[in-house]
Amino acid sequence: MNSQLDDTIRQQLAVAQKIVIVGHIRPDGDAVGSMLGLTHSLRANGKTVIPVLQDGMPEKYAFLPGAADVRTSVPTDYDYLIVVDSSDMPRIGKVLEGLPSPDLVIDHHNTHDDFGKLEYVLPEAEATALVLVDSLPHWGLTITQDAATCLLTGLLSDTIGFRTANTQPAALRAAADLMERGADFHDVYLKTLSDKTLAEALYWGQGLSKIRQTGPIVWSSLTLNDRIISGYQGNDDADLINILSAIKGPLMTILFVEQEGGVKISWRSVEGVDVSKLAREFGGGGHKAAAGADVEGNSERIQENVIKSSERYLKELGSNWVERDAND
Ligand code: 5GP
Ligand code: MN
Repeated sequence: MNSQLDDTIRQQLAVAQKIVIVGHIRPDGDAVGSMLGLTHSLRANGKTVIPVLQDGMPEKYAFLPGAADVRTSVPTDYDYLIVVDSSDMPRIGKVLEGLPSPDLVIDHHNTHDDFGKLEYVLPEAEATALVLVDSLPHWGLTITQDAATCLLTGLLSDTIGFRTANTQPAALRAAADLMERGADFHDVYLKTLSDKTLAEALYWGQGLSKIRQTGPIVWSSLTLNDRIISGYQGNDDADLINILSAIKGPLMTILFVEQEGGVKISWRSVEGVDVSKLAREFGGGGHKAAAGADVEGNSERIQENVIKSSERYLKELGSNWVERDAND
């Protein structure tokens, strides 16, 4: 059944003609997949749609239909603005500076801060792409084969192939539905989660050679120089965090990726440890088990602060666990 919000969105989309859809900086599979999936659905409904990413389309997702249409700035003559997969304004970068607030924000982060005229946020959804799979029919839009390919990319990316702890049966059913709409599961799976370039493998090598342990925390770092040494063109971690967080034993895994003038931090944790709280402390956000932040400043000093705060957080949590046990 349609909610009132669904009806409002349906009505607004019915009259909009030139629609801009924006994803976040250092875009992942869910950001690009949701942005392009929605693009295809709206285009199939006769709309002019311009997808925008400040950082442009990552090479890894260049295989997606519509990838070549992605722009790096917002045209001035749009009449409806949608933001996907972004929990706050800084996450989008600078492309919306000076513009009115977005007409519609579609997201699934539990640290979401409202910043749109309409907010469509489902924190229990495993991916923004899944929010779209469920909602597009209520908004009068069709999931075409191209849309299905993009949305499946988002779903597989955020659940790391259905292996995150939050994966529910509905996510698997949605994937089956997208396959039936023509998405090539095998192809999308390999390109989203498995295929690596030699440069990416060499970049991983730099990070893997620096793994350290501080108490219950396993962590590593990637520098700007590591990118040069390996020939990696991206400004992210090339998904190294997924390899580090596969190490069993630690309560928390942290990866620092040096940026011009700062550091991108990624946290991953075991069940019972909510790293989105820590990410918030550093101006970022995310989910309980996976969170991130972008911090400006000296990278060594930031690393020290983050490890200290993370250790302190685990210690506090540890004493709570003991207390809870004692009360049981
Ligand atoms: P990752 O570590 O893979 O970049 O991100 C893990 C989760 O945290 C994702 O859900 C992502 O959207 C969120 N996240 C990562 N970096 C940031 C950030 O700088 N700000 C916010 N608000 N969320 C972030
Ligand atoms: Mn997402």
